[in-house]
Amino acid sequence: MNLVPRTPVGVLALQGDFAAHRCLIEQLGGEAREVRTPEDLVGIGALVLPGGESTTMTLGIEREGLAQPLREAAASGVPILATCAGLILLDREHLAVLDMRAERNAFGRQVRSFEADVTLDGFGEPLHAVFIRAPWVAELGAGLESIGEVEGHVIAVRSGPILAVAFHPELAGETRLHRWLIEQATAVAV
Ligand code: GLN
Repeated sequence: MNLVPRTPVGVLALQGDFAAHRCLIEQLGGEAREVRTPEDLVGIGALVLPGGESTTMTLGIEREGLAQPLREAAASGVPILATCAGLILLDREHLAVLDMRAERNAFGRQVRSFEADVTLDGFGEPLHAVFIRAPWVAELGAGLESIGEVEGHVIAVRSGPILAVAFHPELAGETRLHRWLIEQATAVAV
């Protein structure tokens, strides 16, 4: 059984480690498309918001007029995988796609970068996760589901086809979250 990509997976490519996500999607048989302008969002079947620096990415989103198109993509049901700074972009104070507040650099700054095996509800065996100046979710609105915690702090949330995690799966050889995303956008051929 092969996964047949139906539509490209967009990867927001304004700043951050978008290239690692793009490579991983392609390794998994998906088609990746770098997203820098609203036109790049047309026809995508899923979207990755990568890690990086959320302030820089926010400036780029404003400069390119991407805020409203990104909100509309989320509202229309485009599956999203947001990692680290990507999680911050989805919160109330940024794109306000998810009713939550992300606390930036919550585990501390560079010195608090660490790796851990984390259990995410619905993803089976623990995932190997790299946390780099990672946020956590300090407030979670009604209807949002926490699916993973580290040291008692929410580091993964799910809202239907939107999955936001505070860590970098793409830097740890972890492929399950990207497989999940591609499957959300993909017709399964038997
Ligand atoms: N600390 C960064 C920020 O606040 C996020 C770090 C990351 O994406 N690895 O934007």
